Amino acid sequence: MHAEILLWLGRYRAIFVPLIGFSAVTLKWFGVVSAESILVGQFGMRRLLLATAVLIVAYVLFQRLVGWQVRRAGVASHAVVVSAIASDIIALFVGVALLTPPEHYDRALLISIFTVQITQIFFGWTATIWNLVLIAGGYTTLVAFAADAGAPIVPGEELWTLALYGIGVLLYVALSGHVGSRMRSLVAIFHRAQEGDFSGRYDEHADQMPDPVTVIGREYNRLRAHLEAIVLTDPLSGCFNRRGLNQLAEREVSRAVRGKKQIAVLALDVDHFKSINDDYGHLTGDEVIREVGALLRETARDVDVVARIGGEEFTILAPDSNEEGAMRFAQRILDAFRAHQFRSLPPDRRITVSVGVSSAPAHDDMIAKTLLARADEALYTAKRTGRDRTVLWHAGMRAFEASVTGGQPRGSVVGMIRLNG
Ligand code: GH3
Ligand code: MG
Ligand code: MG
Repeated sequence: MHAEILLWLGRYRAIFVPLIGFSAVTLKWFGVVSAESILVGQFGMRRLLLATAVLIVAYVLFQRLVGWQVRRAGVASHAVVVSAIASDIIALFVGVALLTPPEHYDRALLISIFTVQITQIFFGWTATIWNLVLIAGGYTTLVAFAADAGAPIVPGEELWTLALYGIGVLLYVALSGHVGSRMRSLVAIFHRAQEGDFSGRYDEHADQMPDPVTVIGREYNRLRAHLEAIVLTDPLSGCFNRRGLNQLAEREVSRAVRGKKQIAVLALDVDHFKSINDDYGHLTGDEVIREVGALLRETARDVDVVARIGGEEFTILAPDSNEEGAMRFAQRILDAFRAHQFRSLPPDRRITVSVGVSSAPAHDDMIAKTLLARADEALYTAKRTGRDRTVLWHAGMRAFEASVTGGQPRGSVVGMIRLNG
């Protein structure tokens, strides 16, 4: 990551540093800015301009070397990052010493703000502290050097400028760092939403700074409930869809594992639904599915997760329910269907359902998958043994079926049950 950023920044370094450097050389050459640096007396202007040009070329060559090294290694070590930052600071302060009069040394601090912010955004706090230390060292050296050479500056004043600069820059980068980290947490929430997981909320309470990030976070929270309803709900029945079931099952199972609770799954299929479609048409069939969904949600507790997972097949996840509790619940559903008058059907037309039930202590996160398979198996038995009934899964279920069918496929259980009954 750092390697990529360093290469990308290198391109801008190679443009901006020569641009600013040669602008300064040109302005001096034509006398537009004529105040003299402390070195003019010693070396003369021409030599200083030449030295600045050499400095810029050396800087660009060094950046190329860093780029070459990073490309070759494929990574940028901490040392490489710090030396790239150091080269900026050295070029900046040497350039200022060569061409700038002492009373304008704070220009070096002005320009260095960019380096601090870029470092903070791309390389983090350790590199930023390094950057600030280098700037403080560069500025102090420059001032000490100028005072030593008899320049008309007061070192105390210059150090005070440096201290104010330090406070200002620290506040500035802390603020932008704070904004950056909140943006990253928002992006993480968006990524989860893309996967259909809407459990992430933007923490409005932890947010003490009402700025554009807060506005986006609040808007997302408002949107979240709406999106969740669209993505996790089955539009026909108003129950959860398969995605909703999976997501809530994950949450409920981990809660049950933590609390060492039992968890139950009910698999439900409407009996002879084809005949509803055949007798009254598909639209009426859809109306019935809608009413089935509503009836199941009415019969379930608030904590139960009712999901439509196929045509007229529903799965209910019942947290904190043992076998007796889950069977009582299943029986309550059966009774509710027997008593319910469907608005879309003639008064004498009743609908029954078959329910497979399974329950177990939640030992690990895989329990939901096991319970779903078991409930399905029990539902299968409920269908094969006459419908309009509840069947509790038990460990010998498959073996039992295999024995009564003489090891034949499960489809022949009905015949055997009839024979037995
Ligand atoms: P069983 O007692 O064995 O469950 O008999 P069934 O007729 O209900 O058979 P099954 O559950 O295998 O098939 C369900 C039928 O429900 C198949 C299809 O015609 C119908 N169906 C599936 N999805 C929809 C839907 O969204 N709307 C309507 N109207 N009918 C559907
Ligand atoms: Mg059916
Ligand atoms: Mg079915």
